[in-house]
Amino acid sequence: MSETDALRALMEADRWVDRVSAQRNHLSEMAELSTLEDELRALSKALQEARGAQAPVQQAYEDAANEAERIRRREHDLDATLAASTGNARELGVLQRELEHLRDLLGRAEDRELELLIEIEPLDEVVAAIKARAQPGVARRAQLQATILELQATLDEEIASLRLARAERARALSPELLARYDNVMVRVGTTGAAQVNAGRCDGCRIVLAPLDVDRWKSQPAGTFMSCPECGRLLLP
Ligand SMILES: [Zn+2]
Repeated sequence: MSETDALRALMEADRWVDRVSAQRNHLSEMAELSTLEDELRALSKALQEARGAQAPVQQAYEDAANEAERIRRREHDLDATLAASTGNARELGVLQRELEHLRDLLGRAEDRELELLIEIEPLDEVVAAIKARAQPGVARRAQLQATILELQATLDEEIASLRLARAERARALSPELLARYDNVMVRVGTTGAAQVNAGRCDGCRIVLAPLDVDRWKSQPAGTFMSCPECGRLLLP
C-alpha cells in the first residue's frame, strides 16, 4: 500500500470515529429529553404556585368546618339540656334564646364552610390538571433516559471497535508521517489529513490559491503538503 493510500485509510477511519461520536452525542432522543425537561420544570413551577394558592383556602375551609362542628355540638348539647330541663318558664326562655342564637351562628358558619368549599374546588382542579399534564411527561422522561443509555452503550462499543481499526491503520504509516498527522489532528480535530476536492480542502473547506494548487500538484511522491489554512496533510 502506498503511503498516500495508508494516509487516506487512516483519515477515513478517523472520520468514521468522528461521525459515530457525533451521532452518540447528538441523539434525537437527547434533544427531545432536553425539551421535555424544560416543560417539566415549567409544570413543576406551576404546580408549586397552584399549591401556594390552594393551601390558605384549604386551611380556611378546615377552620370553618371545625368551627361549624364545634357550634353543632354546643347546639346539640343545649338541645338535650332544654329537653331534660325542669326549670321554670323564665329559665326555659333563656335556654331557648341561647339555642336560637347558636342556630343563627351555625347557619352562618355553614354558609362560610360552603363558600370556601366552592372556592377551593377550582384550585383543586388546577392542581389536578397540572399533575395530569406532567404524568405522561414523567413517564416519557424515564423512557428517553433508558433509550439514551442503551443507544450510547451500543455506539460506545462501535466507537471502541472503530478505534481498534484506526490503530491498525495507523501502524501502516511511518512514525514520522503518523506524528505529523497526529499533531495536526490534536490541533484541529477530526482528522490530520484532508482531500483536495475541486481545488478545496475538504477538511476546512477553504479554496486553495492557484499557486498552492500548483505547488501541491508538483510535490514529489511521498511528500505531503499541509493545507495553508487548517494544516491537514493534503491528499489527492
Ligand atoms: Zn484545510
